[in-house]
Amino acid sequence: MAKYIFITGGVVSSLGKGLTAASIGRLLISRGLSIRMQKLDPYLNVDPGTMSPFQHGEVFVTDDGAETDLDLGHYERFTGQTTSRKSNYTAGRIYWDVLKKERRGDYLGGTVQMIPHITDEIKASIRSLDEEDVDVILCEIGGTVGDIEGLTFLEAIRQIGLEEGPENVCYVHLTYVPFIKAAGEVKTKPSQQSVARLREIGILPNILICRTEVDLGDDVRRKLSLFCNVPQHAVIVEKDVEHSIYELPVVLHAQDVDQLIMRQLQLNPPVADLTEWREMLNRVIYPKGSVKIGVVGKYSELQDAYKSIFEAIEHGALAHAQSVQLVKIPAEELEDGTGLERLDEIDALLVPGGFGGRGVEGKVEAVRLAREKKIPFLGICLGMQCAIIEFARNVAGLTGAQSTEFDKDTPHPVVCLMEEQEHVQNLGGSMRLGASRSTFQPDTLIARSYGAQEVFERHRHRYEVNPGYHAKLEGAGLILSGKDDGGHLVESVELSDHPWFVATQYHPEFKSQPLKPHPLFRDFIGAAIARQSTR
Ligand code: GLN
Repeated sequence: MAKYIFITGGVVSSLGKGLTAASIGRLLISRGLSIRMQKLDPYLNVDPGTMSPFQHGEVFVTDDGAETDLDLGHYERFTGQTTSRKSNYTAGRIYWDVLKKERRGDYLGGTVQMIPHITDEIKASIRSLDEEDVDVILCEIGGTVGDIEGLTFLEAIRQIGLEEGPENVCYVHLTYVPFIKAAGEVKTKPSQQSVARLREIGILPNILICRTEVDLGDDVRRKLSLFCNVPQHAVIVEKDVEHSIYELPVVLHAQDVDQLIMRQLQLNPPVADLTEWREMLNRVIYPKGSVKIGVVGKYSELQDAYKSIFEAIEHGALAHAQSVQLVKIPAEELEDGTGLERLDEIDALLVPGGFGGRGVEGKVEAVRLAREKKIPFLGICLGMQCAIIEFARNVAGLTGAQSTEFDKDTPHPVVCLMEEQEHVQNLGGSMRLGASRSTFQPDTLIARSYGAQEVFERHRHRYEVNPGYHAKLEGAGLILSGKDDGGHLVESVELSDHPWFVATQYHPEFKSQPLKPHPLFRDFIGAAIARQSTR
């Protein structure tokens, strides 16, 4: 029987609850425990797959093809464990499942209610992770305590506390302790009120983690302890980290967070072995040099829209003990020419995935410059499709080549929908999703990079390179280095007369981790370093 850690957040959102949960996960893994991680999101979308990155940030894709919250990316990167469809439930999905049961007649005769039917469904979702050999389930509740839509979730985790007993459940509350400049002091009142809301519901936090921009003295911790009913040694200070988010497990460990949890859950595993983690952190904090990586996207101003891409670039750099300066280039600035000179300063260029036509011509232009100026290039998903369009137009002589996503009447639909996507009506969960096999041609850049002929990588797209154009593209010199199992779908392409030009239809960024940088990102950064040294 697994034990449970529930992580709630108070006062404001964007405190880094996902990072805190992931860091606790890392600490438990470092103590040899077997864990599962989960995020419950109280919004009504069935999953975040149909939400804009402006609303929600990146959509993280699991091996089993679920479109999930970006916090699952943190979980995988910090713990080294893969998540699945069971690792993310939204209120929409919970309600949907309950309503399907109601229509089937499963509740026949009964009135279907928030309590117990919705709360039972939430509890069943949490307990679905209680598989054999799992010691601890870490469950993060999205949103902020006090949100109306989060109430059933808090009620469900309160009930689990009652059902499992106090020695099997640990409640961690992440709160914000603001520094008020005009008063010159930190304020504990918002945290007091947030904990008061939790206590009204019947949840008494065992550990209070305080996000803050300044150090908190013992007096502040004493006050928080008193007003929030948490022992003072369980009032943890989580000040903004200095260098990297990967410092967080060490920060929490230094304040005995894992030991506090072990005591609460009456577990007694070995002490945390953070040797490998600290060694990685050392390379982050003391880099030998720095590379400038250009990313041409359309959500450049958003930190979260390309989360896994930015992290994977960091990991790639980490493999060479380098730090990264990201140069975010809005694709539209390449269309009107204003962003062009920024390409001169970079060591390598990445064009990430995306949907819709805005900025596509700018991305195509970026690929052209990377190809012609021999700038190391990594294209991902839409980034690869843009590379196909660029090559078709400018090398293969297919004037007006385009993806049918952006122009249905193009004379050369080099990227198009396959039969199975042509008739899709519902937009939710209907793309080509999740892990599938790519097989590489021997002796290609990509096969050498992975050191393997076959890989399983995650997909999230509808459009494919048009099989009717494979021969023309190859004839003009593009190497279609990777194919799917059927041999009809292009999984990766590369160029031979270029220092490093690789693009993939799948998303390698989802599988990169700080302790295991992804080979493509590692070699992409390697090529950036090589270019830097020749300039
Ligand atoms: N819009 C493209 C497609 O659906 C690319 C998707 C992506 O980059 N994730 O195929």
